Amino acid sequence: MRLLLIGPPASGKGTQAARIADQYHLPHVESGELLRQEVEARTEIGRRIQPYLEQGDLVPDDIVLDVVGTTLGKAAVSGGFLLDGFPRNVDQAKELDVLTAPQGASVQLVIVLDADQEHLLERMRERAAVGGRADDTEETIRHRLAVYEEQTVPLTEYYEGRAMVRHIDGRPPIDEVTAAITATVDDLKGSLDDDRP
Ligand code: ADP
Repeated sequence: MRLLLIGPPASGKGTQAARIADQYHLPHVESGELLRQEVEARTEIGRRIQPYLEQGDLVPDDIVLDVVGTTLGKAAVSGGFLLDGFPRNVDQAKELDVLTAPQGASVQLVIVLDADQEHLLERMRERAAVGGRADDTEETIRHRLAVYEEQTVPLTEYYEGRAMVRHIDGRPPIDEVTAAITATVDDLKGSLDDDRP
């Protein structure tokens, strides 16, 4: 299965992605984590990435592709993946289509976690209170939400007609959201069977 999970910051996307990848034995490609690793390792590219992460802006596409390309390539060859955080705008989605075309491994199912802004801000405050990530300040998260609306929401439209797109309420407790995603995936699994040449 080739899945893409989309969700606003603090929607629980990362947590859900890890669970779903585990449950279906899919390589979990997490762009945010790969980018943070570069920053932590203080690599040359990590130094270029850092200011974008701190401000909650999208890292430029060429840098992102540099960082996720290898992991993504391996996942595409393996036949299945769960993408988490990439693609994050329409240009990246087009790039991904080009990258996966040779293997016939385009995204099959897009799961969108929906949550309203107030809910997300509240979650973020809770997360920051227990010592979360450096980019989990109120100001940054408001900015990340705006970036999400502007750059990432249009992705769902891009995928309409190219893949199956399903919206799931991201507000209930974590286990309930996981159950809803699992139910959706199981329901569609038959039509997601290996369709590669
Ligand atoms: P969240 O969804 O909560 O913002 P992520 O770990 O997915 O958490 O992303 C954290 C940050 O990493 C983003 O704010 C952005 O700066 C950067 N990032 C992650 N994935 C991408 C991507 N595909 N393109 C550009 N920037 C990205």
